Order: sequence, then C-alpha cells, then structure tokens
Amino acid sequence: MKCFKNFSQILTLEKASQKDGRLLTPDDLSVLNKASIVFDEDKIHWVGLANELPKQFHHIPSHDCEGYVLTPEIVDSHTHLVFGGDRSFEYSMRLNGADYQEIANAGGGILSTMENTITTDEEELFQTGIERIERIASYGVGSIEIKSGYGLTVESERKISHVIDRLKKHFSGKIQIFNTYLAAHAVPKTYDNSHEYMQKVVYPLLEELAEQNIIDFIDIFHEEGYFNYQDSEELFKVATKLGIKIKIHADEFNDNKGALLASRYNAVSADHLLCTGEDGIDALANSQTVATLLPGTAYFLGKPLAEAQKFLKAGCKVALASDYNPGSCHCDNILLIASLCAKNFNLNMAQLWSALCLNSAHALGLYDQGALIAGNKPRFSFFKCSSIDQITYSWGRNFAISENQLIQETHQT
Ligand SMILES: [Zn+2]
Repeated sequence: MKCFKNFSQILTLEKASQKDGRLLTPDDLSVLNKASIVFDEDKIHWVGLANELPKQFHHIPSHDCEGYVLTPEIVDSHTHLVFGGDRSFEYSMRLNGADYQEIANAGGGILSTMENTITTDEEELFQTGIERIERIASYGVGSIEIKSGYGLTVESERKISHVIDRLKKHFSGKIQIFNTYLAAHAVPKTYDNSHEYMQKVVYPLLEELAEQNIIDFIDIFHEEGYFNYQDSEELFKVATKLGIKIKIHADEFNDNKGALLASRYNAVSADHLLCTGEDGIDALANSQTVATLLPGTAYFLGKPLAEAQKFLKAGCKVALASDYNPGSCHCDNILLIASLCAKNFNLNMAQLWSALCLNSAHALGLYDQGALIAGNKPRFSFFKCSSIDQITYSWGRNFAISENQLIQETHQT
C-alpha cells in the first residue's frame, strides 16, 4: 500500500464518471485542493482531502506531494506510431504550395510510408517504436493504442503486429500498449477490389493473429474509395465471433454511415467523425461507443475541425486522441493538441479532461480507469505544477513527471 499526500490538487473526475462522461458542465470536473490518495498495485483504496485521511491509513509510509498535481492517467487511444521512413519534406512541400499529386510525384504520400515500412526490418521498427513511446510517455500519457496498417501484405502486416506485441511486452507493467489490427487501411493497387484484398490478406492474417492472442482491437478505414459498408460489416461480424473489440475510422471524408455502423456493432470507439450526420450522432449518443475526435489531423492538414458541439450536446461520450502518424498528423503530444483545440471546440474543463482521461480510457474498453475513485485501477499522470489550470494553459510546456521522479523529488514521512 502507498500513500501520496498533500497534492496541491487532485483531479478525480468523479462526477464526470458518474455521468458516464456525457453532458458535462464545468461543475463535473471534481478537483480536490490539498488532497491525498491511498492505493496498492491493483486498485485505489481512498482519495480525499489530506486532513480527512482515515485513521487506518495513517501508519502507511507516505510522500509529501505539495507542489504537484495528480490526474487520472492520460490515454492516447488512436496512434499509428509503427512506421518506417520520414516524410518531413512533404510537410515543407505542402507549406510551399504543393498539392497531393505533386507530393506523390516527388515520392511522397502514404505509398512511400508503406514502402519504407515494408523494407525496414522488425528490429529497427521495434527500436524506433520504443523511442516514440518513451517520448509520448514523457508527456504524462500512460496508455497508448497502436495500429498496424502500413504493410498491406500478409507478411508485412504480420511484422507490424508482432512489433506492436513486442512493444507491449517491453513496456508491460509500466505503459499499457494496445494492439489494433488495421490491415484494412487501404487497398493495394494489385487487387481488383476491397473484397478481394479482405479475403486474401485481412482475414487469413486476422485468424492467425487471433489464434496467437495478440490482437486487442480490429479497425477498418471505412471511407469511400477504401472499404465499403459491406466490408466493414463483414469484418465486424468476424471480429465479434472471435471476441475482438471493434474500432473504426469513420466519416472522415464524407458521411459514410460509419458512426451508425459502429454503434450497431458496439464498437468501443468511432474515430475522426468530420462528416457524421445527425443519425450517426444520435446513434453514438445512445450507445457506449465513444466519439473520438482527432483535431491534430485537421490542424496538420489545414482542414476544418469536427463539429464537437454537436456530439457533446447530443450526449455522446467524446474523447480526444492524437492520430500520431507520418502523413496527416506528425504530432505525438495529445495534451498539446487538446490545449490548442479546447477553445475551437468550446470544451469546458470537465469535457476537456474527460476527453483526455475518462472517455479516452473507455475508447480502449478500460472502464475501471479514467477517474480517481476507490476501486478503480491506480493509473495516474503526475505533473510538477500547482494547479491543473496551468497544464492546458501553457501550450506545449511539459509539466509531466514519472512516478519514480515524484518519489525521488518528494520526501518520505
Ligand atoms: Zn488513424
């Protein structure tokens, strides 16, 4: 059992959790000033004001955490961080006025990431994966989802899924990694249609990886010109049979009814949602499927943001994630993205922090974390500052520290 006492603030998100992360008002933030927490490896035992610590916990060795802030763990529920190559030149080309075709002609675009990911060996992908995850963790993020999808052959998709599995094992006990199978990311030109690709690549490998028990979620790029309603529905049926939870890239380019499909199949999340119509928003609001918005992508591409207010007002559970990837959002810092988009989305503080911690945990099926209440998993983020206001106010400044750092910097009593 451990006791961290006297935090300048603890953000519990208790009320937000009682409201299942929906229709939150500023009062639902639940911040305790001068507060303490008691926990062991498995669960939180008590959270409250420091001067109300129950007697039975008085004997536990504790650390004095004045000058620090504790929040529920920040979760990044949507990344594509295993990839080979570098596309920085493309971003500069785009700033200089180049369009999609000019970039493709210069050897850029998603095909270049695929070629580079296919030719990069497993060990190198694993090592760069470690570096990227450590950097993301340094911002205070403790759970990270990673999608495959830059291989698009059985062999290279297998390699990527195995790299994610190795990363998961490498960080086990510290950072929670979730392995999402997104072989249905695009259809290579060598196939006549999406159906043929699904039959020849997506399903055979899914079966193999499911048998090895290394897949946490399946995902599909459900967009016009990529995978159609029939492809997605069939994949969801197979995944349901295999007991694998569902995520979906939905309604990014047009209203393709991805959100509707997601709620119908109890997906843990539907992501992007730039063009979702009212029927899709209603369906999400009446389901457990989290509406995950990825504003970093819109910023990166200079496109309009999703209409967050429509989802929030309808009663959806809204999460934010980075979508960290080499082409459309090379930003791995979800706290920075959240700070930037908060006002454009008109998020209140309860909505903002729930989108980072509570609803984003639900977007990974983690229903026992995301709020600091007794019985929940002890998954935390620690910040070296005196209030949560400072964290999202100071765009791009990193206040996060690890639990080990906190223990070293504070004295035991
Ligand atoms: Zn994505």
